[in-house]
Amino acid sequence: MISHTRICSKCGVEESQQHPFIKQSKICKTCYAEYQRQWRAANPEKHRAANQRWRERHPEKSKAASQQWREKHPESAKYHQTSWQKQHPKEHSRRQVIWKQKQREKKGKPA
Ligand SMILES: [Zn+2]
Repeated sequence: MISHTRICSKCGVEESQQHPFIKQSKICKTCYAEYQRQWRAANPEKHRAANQRWRERHPEKSKAASQQWREKHPESAKYHQTSWQKQHPKEHSRRQVIWKQKQREKKGKPA
């Protein structure tokens, strides 16, 4: 009988519930995550471009993912927002004007 146990080609760990593997692959999830982390560090531009492409292809998923992230990290989200506002004061006030206009339009509409 052939054993289906896979051995990670990177760290040598055996596939198990504690050490799940990537589908159709010879490396464990831990090594894969580390590989991805290193790849991102080595290719920040490519990573950003890939992210951008994904967002363009899946605008709804992208929106949901960032919403989820904000819910999980309310403090970081707030921090990111304020630092963005500081870096883009003009754009921020422009967006606020648009937002206020929209609010007025909503209120102005008859129920
Ligand atoms: Zn491994």
